[in-house]
Parts: sequence; structure tokens; C-alpha cells
Amino acid sequence: MPTFRVIDIVEGTTVDGPGLRTSIYFAGCTHHCEGCHNPQSWPANAGKDMDEDALMEVIRYNGFDVTFTGGDPFFQASAVAHLAARIKQELHLGIWCYTGYRWEDIIANPNFQPLLQHIDVLVDGPFILALRDTSLRFRGSSNQRIIDVKRKIINPNYELRNPKDHPDAFVIRNS
Ligand code: SF4
Repeated sequence: MPTFRVIDIVEGTTVDGPGLRTSIYFAGCTHHCEGCHNPQSWPANAGKDMDEDALMEVIRYNGFDVTFTGGDPFFQASAVAHLAARIKQELHLGIWCYTGYRWEDIIANPNFQPLLQHIDVLVDGPFILALRDTSLRFRGSSNQRIIDVKRKIINPNYELRNPKDHPDAFVIRNS
């Protein structure tokens, strides 16, 4: 069973995706964005060790959909993929995932596919201070995209839509 380095778990948050969610902040990030909201999450050994059963118990108890954030969950991609599979198989909950990688980087990396296949919505790309926009829902800078993974995988040319037309949309404009 995999173990994880976890910075924090926020239970019942509303800022990391729609509805009440259990957000898990995983340690480790190599993107080092200027203006990062959470630079203490960058070291691989930040936070504390948690095993998968302990994480599953928190997620199961709350019963909320789940958000993986950090740090960058893809820094521990193999372990997080195993957790994501259990969330889907045992709890049938939705999964959002924040990453500093762009979609194009994720799909080009075979090591990332096991995690990607269990994610419903990916919020991609680094935080870019010059593009910071506090009016955006669920993201910090306008380069970041909220991508419906299943639809995007089925149709790579799927046209991303404007969030103003789809305030709760899972697919947002590609800008
Ligand atoms: S990807 Fe996220 S956690 Fe990593 S440096 Fe950028 S803003 Fe910070």
C-alpha cells in the first residue's frame, strides 16, 4: 500500500471545485511559480507521512467529492493514482486535480497516464503572477484551464468554453 507526504487535508472546502470537497494537499512541486500560494509545499519531504487507508478513511467519513492539490499531485503520481483508483472503485466520488503541468505535458508523459485516467477535472498550468485574476473561479491565473478530462480524451479538439456561459462548467476556455 502506498504512503504519501501530505501537507494538509481540508474537509468541507468550497474553493477547490464545486460543492463541498475534501482537499488533499500533497507535498512536492518542482514548478516554483513566482507568487505561489503555498511554497512550503515544494520540498518532497514537506508535511507528514500518511498511508492510503488513513486518507481513504477521511475521504469516506466526509463523503465529499475530492480535490488533489498541493504542491503538485503529479509529483507523487504513482501513489496518487493508486489512491484515485480506490476512490473511484470503492467510493464513486468525483476527483478534481490541480497541477502545475500543462495538459499537453501531462498527456505526453506515460508515467502520468495512470493518474490522469481517474481524474474527472484537471486544472492545469503554472500560476503566472502577471496573469493573476481574483475574479476567476477555482484558479489563480488566466492561463490555467479547467479541463473535463473524459471529454478531452475522447475528443482532443474539443472546444473549451467560456466560463461566463457555463458558471459550473467543467470545461473552460483555452486561453
Ligand atoms: S504549481 Fe502550484 S504549488 Fe507548485 S509552485 Fe506553482 S502555484 Fe505553487
